[in-house]
Amino acid sequence: MALRKVAIYGKGGIGKSTTTQNTAAAMAYFHGQKVFIHGCDPKADSTRLILGGKMQETLMDVLRSNGAEKITLDSVVRRGFGDILCVESGGPDPGVGCAGRGVITAIDLMEERNAYADDLNFVFFDVLGDVVCGGFAMPIRDGKAQEVYIVASGEMMAVYAANNICRGLLKYAKQSGVRLGGVICNSRNVDKEREFLDEFTAAIGTQMIYFVPRDNMVQKAEFNKKTVTEYDPSENQALEYKSLARKIIDNESFVIPKPLTMDELEAMVVKYGISD
Ligand code: ADP
Ligand code: MG
Repeated sequence: MALRKVAIYGKGGIGKSTTTQNTAAAMAYFHGQKVFIHGCDPKADSTRLILGGKMQETLMDVLRSNGAEKITLDSVVRRGFGDILCVESGGPDPGVGCAGRGVITAIDLMEERNAYADDLNFVFFDVLGDVVCGGFAMPIRDGKAQEVYIVASGEMMAVYAANNICRGLLKYAKQSGVRLGGVICNSRNVDKEREFLDEFTAAIGTQMIYFVPRDNMVQKAEFNKKTVTEYDPSENQALEYKSLARKIIDNESFVIPKPLTMDELEAMVVKYGISD
């Protein structure tokens, strides 16, 4: 099996990092996959559940204090639960420069160091999706990832963001070859959430690949600085991530999405009586 490079996008706070880490942990633990997580959020919190809560020095931190020649895989890549490899891009000093630059620099340096080696099954890029421009568009613009999953919920702003990300995907799909593998519903327990996302995903030409229930187990594990699989693999929520992981491993639906117009999206929102 060839290495699959996957980008996870979605509105801030929707659960990208939680879902990515829990899915990666389940992939490693239940399905024997070799996984690498590259955090592309300046918050640098994409890998802490895999690494037991330790805030790691980011690639941009090492770059700033030691220069590019000191960036080695040993100096920036950490190994965590399930032998999952982790790196955080980090960002510029607050208020200075464009955060997206850090993503570009980090991915380029990791590629030069051959971090995404062929013995891996999956590389996940955890990217914020409120803006799909600059460095944050890089994974889909420059062919760094071939596959995208959008994390959304039945909340209006999450679906607006998902539609926006699809506009970015549509723009770059031809040149980069990137495709949408589906939308992951990370439930917020809003009314008719499943129906709304089923209709939205069908309308844009993709699938709701999995419906992840909202479960306090996620917070409980997080409080213990763990994914639910590491915390207790017999828990129902661990089995949910196990199923999501299997869906992604077996996925064969990769499309160029057809984003909705604002009018179409508004009509759908009204139909489902969605509020924010
Ligand atoms: P993002 O990376 O998109 O900004 P996070 O992954 O940091 O979002 O998620 C924000 C918070 O939502 C997390 O701290 C986590 O506790 C909570 N969360 C995410 N998914 C779930 C879930 N399925 N059930 C319960 N809580 C969740
Ligand atoms: Mg995050």
